[in-house]
Amino acid sequence: MKIVVVGAGAMGSLFAGYLAKSHEEIWVYDVWKEHIDAINREGLVMTRDNVDHRVKLNATSDPMRPSVMDAVIVFCKYVHTRQAMQDARPMIGPRTVVLTLQNGLGNVDILRETVPRGQILFGLTTLTSELLGPGHIEESFHGRGETYFWPLSGKINDTANQLSLVLNEVGIHTEITPEVELKIWRKLIVNTCYNTLCALTGLKVGDLIDQPAAWDIMNGIAFEIAQVAQRKGLPLDEEEGRGILKKIAAETLNHVPSMVNDVRNHKKTEIDCLNGAIMREAEKMGIPTPYNRTIYNMVKIVENTYDSRLK
Ligand code: NAD
Repeated sequence: MKIVVVGAGAMGSLFAGYLAKSHEEIWVYDVWKEHIDAINREGLVMTRDNVDHRVKLNATSDPMRPSVMDAVIVFCKYVHTRQAMQDARPMIGPRTVVLTLQNGLGNVDILRETVPRGQILFGLTTLTSELLGPGHIEESFHGRGETYFWPLSGKINDTANQLSLVLNEVGIHTEITPEVELKIWRKLIVNTCYNTLCALTGLKVGDLIDQPAAWDIMNGIAFEIAQVAQRKGLPLDEEEGRGILKKIAAETLNHVPSMVNDVRNHKKTEIDCLNGAIMREAEKMGIPTPYNRTIYNMVKIVENTYDSRLK
């Protein structure tokens, strides 16, 4: 199989680094030249439990180089998906499957602008990774982690099955399941609460959950998301949402969500596909979402005013 990861940052490099253990042809494509050059020069360094592992990969910033792929895995941030998919066109043929495991809602709609519905796979992963510098990532998950996907058309083809097989062979536990939508909404509760509140307060998950005021806000966010999910026919209630937040917090006390680093590095965040997406979905249904709207607006103020901050 020929597989390219589009957007080879923290997560894209993690997946490509694991996939490199297979006998397939694996590429990473990224616009960040320093990173690509480092991978080509010295390999990708993957730090796991304080030990560095060096992995050889085909890396490029030229989308014409890898030719047409069997599978494309999209791992850029939401704000770059449209551009990345336009750039990646030379690698996508009529039989290529395009898999997004990005967080939030809305990446699939952007994929649909350039990729036919029958070629799109969507899902999520519970694996996590951190970018330490050009050509260097750290695996920040513990335990086995799970990856799920499902074809947007509902029809599983041979390439989708083959991709799942290869991912499992290299140790990325993957399941093709129609339950993926519910799982995405469950994960959305985590990202809409922890990513945003940690970014706004500068706290790690473990320190945030010690604050009763944070739970007041997170309960409100979870309640609203459960209402929207239920209206879409998904069996997700407020109680389960709270349970998910507690379970994930216990597993990720030291985790620094990527939105914290986006804000620190004065970058655009993924707020539009998180609380912003909930707000938009809810508006169509006439459901009020004051908690999600407030968090959305606060993150927007922050990301729109990096240059005007008081010292
Ligand atoms: P990242 O910022 O580390 O990596 C994104 C990469 O995309 C960067 O290297 C950037 O240069 C590249 N990129 C930007 N524009 C591009 C373009 N036009 N063409 C090709 N590449 C382009 O982000 P990340 O943390 O790896 O997150 C990627 C996605 O995965 C996000 O949706 C995130 O929410 C999700 N996710 C992240 C984690 C995590 O632990 N980091 C876990 C699960 C899901």
